[in-house]
Amino acid sequence: MNSTTTLPDAKRVGMVSLGCPKALVDSERILTRLRADGYAMSSDYAGADVVLVNTCGFLDSAKEESLAAIGEAIAENGRVIVTGCMGEEADAIRAAHPQVLAVTGAHQYEQVVEAVHEHAPPSQGPFVDLIPQPSDSDIKLTPRHYSYLKISEGCNHSCAFCIIPQLRGKLASRRIDAVLREAEKLVAAGTRELLVISQDTSAYGVDIKHEPKPWKGREVRAHMTDMARELGQLDIGNGTPPWVRLHYVYPYPHVDRVLPLMAEGLLTPYLDIPFQHASPKVLKLMRRPANEAKVLDRLKSWREICPEIAVRSSFVVGFPGETEEDFRYLIDWLEEAQLDRVGAFRFEPVEGAAANALPDPVPEAVKEERYAALMEVTERISAAKLEAKIGKTLPVIIDEVGEPDEDGDIGANGRTQADAPEIDGAVYLRNVPETLAAGDIVDVRIEEADAHDLFGVIEPR
Ligand code: SF4
Repeated sequence: MNSTTTLPDAKRVGMVSLGCPKALVDSERILTRLRADGYAMSSDYAGADVVLVNTCGFLDSAKEESLAAIGEAIAENGRVIVTGCMGEEADAIRAAHPQVLAVTGAHQYEQVVEAVHEHAPPSQGPFVDLIPQPSDSDIKLTPRHYSYLKISEGCNHSCAFCIIPQLRGKLASRRIDAVLREAEKLVAAGTRELLVISQDTSAYGVDIKHEPKPWKGREVRAHMTDMARELGQLDIGNGTPPWVRLHYVYPYPHVDRVLPLMAEGLLTPYLDIPFQHASPKVLKLMRRPANEAKVLDRLKSWREICPEIAVRSSFVVGFPGETEEDFRYLIDWLEEAQLDRVGAFRFEPVEGAAANALPDPVPEAVKEERYAALMEVTERISAAKLEAKIGKTLPVIIDEVGEPDEDGDIGANGRTQADAPEIDGAVYLRNVPETLAAGDIVDVRIEEADAHDLFGVIEPR
């Protein structure tokens, strides 16, 4: 019998953000990082387990304002962590407000996140990082050179295994000008890769009737294709566009229209499409959107338009009612689809989801077997796809540069355009110059591959 998982109560963090737009981006970064760690946001002092005050210390008047804001947060809540520009003057802050729990300086994301973990330890639970928490700010960012750009909240679908529409409500798209301004701000603050996220990216703007807004002297619609084209015209320096990835794209017909943008280099040739299954019967039981038979044909035509496109997806095995025949259908489909990256989950009931009432649960042992069989197939496909990259030279964005080893060799790791951070593979580099930094985009000659990652060396430009 299946057990039901109860969502744990998340710890809540309040934020008072003072100062310039860059400080606001920092606040967003901190909050979204905390959200990724399972915290929820509180819009008032009373509901917060801890309050962050992001200060400004540029002018004396700003310092006064910062000290006043810290005083107010202490009076209203009592549990206060200070960060931001005035954090450089920790002594002055502690002299005025000895009760503050911790003081960290501007851009010290790790330290401030650590301080929150120390003073309000996060709730633990298997679904905490799967279900986004409500918040006023919608960017997730780790580390600085890539940023998550959230374009809408909520969802109009009712997939049987999902409670997000109950938690977050119907689709509520952000205005296109607000999305683009935020993207521009992120790029100005050092972002070189934008990851567009939502619960249903292809549905962006449906709720606001794709309302156009003026942007740089032209009218731009709140529509995935228009947004993608504009994001591809931002400039990270020397007229180079940022890498722009679309996540959580359902294969509605208009998705075909972003392929030419990839072929033109305005959009990273990558689509994250959570297919979840292939069997029409299971998809129907799951009540999945854009569930139509022609997906394999469309994958083929996308590859004709943009041969470099990488498609990542996720699948659920052991959904109630999934028979051996349905599972075989999925495996055959995967063999034909040749997806670049695949994540898989064994079905687990979540409290409140419609799927819990479905008959014919799949026994745990069968779920395990199917999971293992699916992973074997997708790893084989991934290994062959990565092997085919050996000898090629590919652009790689650097995520991390190491320290020199005993021979003075410095290693680094990064990602190709086919790899999103945190969910896909990496490229490991040897002998990198010491001037290399996170966020640099370099040409890498691929020398080796395994089932997940690539290994290579930088080619001089
Ligand atoms: S599309 Fe389905 S799985 Fe995705 S958020 Fe909406 S209901 Fe949940």
